[in-house]
Amino acid sequence: MTPVTVKGVNPADVKDVARAQTDENRPWWVRTYIPAILGGMGVTMRHLIANLRNRRNTATIEYPEVKREYSPRFRGRHYLKKRPSGDPRCVACYMCATACPADCIFIVAGEHPDPAIEKYPVEFVIDGLRCIYCGYCVDACPEDAIAMTRDYEMAGYHREDFIWDKDYLLNWRDRVEREDGYQPYEGEIDKERMSRGRL
Ligand code: SF4
Ligand code: SF4
Repeated sequence: MTPVTVKGVNPADVKDVARAQTDENRPWWVRTYIPAILGGMGVTMRHLIANLRNRRNTATIEYPEVKREYSPRFRGRHYLKKRPSGDPRCVACYMCATACPADCIFIVAGEHPDPAIEKYPVEFVIDGLRCIYCGYCVDACPEDAIAMTRDYEMAGYHREDFIWDKDYLLNWRDRVEREDGYQPYEGEIDKERMSRGRL
């Protein structure tokens, strides 16, 4: 008895089609893949010529000479802000690590020698390959101590190149000039503290 299928297709017919498509049943000239390769090259050439004739509307850009203009809200590689003394502004409160959906911020807190500052990060690490660049850490920080830049040019040969430790996060932006990314509360915390007479 022929089994009934949803679309009324006989499974035996499907098997025949599959069998007909196996390599052994194809002509020798198809099995050389030369017609398929020529077909693919034809598609490539067609797009190449169309793009050369209409360069203004091509989907690709000539990176790195031409850079893509991202949204003003774009946020890329992080950095840690410093106090005037050069110490991190971070007070190791773990708010950023708690808010991070990718679980890629690792902090070790230590007691700060200044009694006015409770804690400081003995270590502060971001795993740049796990990060999804959502910016929640920036939004969660009560000290305006972590920010993101507009830097998206991140490349490395080793996974370790993307393990950004405290020293790197505090200093990389001094070496490579990069614009800040979107910071919803930038300066607000300082303003509020100044209004209370304590920065
Ligand atoms: S940008 Fe998002 S994923 Fe990346 S460290 Fe911050 S909170 Fe975590
Ligand atoms: S939320 Fe801000 S102050 Fe708190 S640990 Fe993160 S960077 Fe430091």
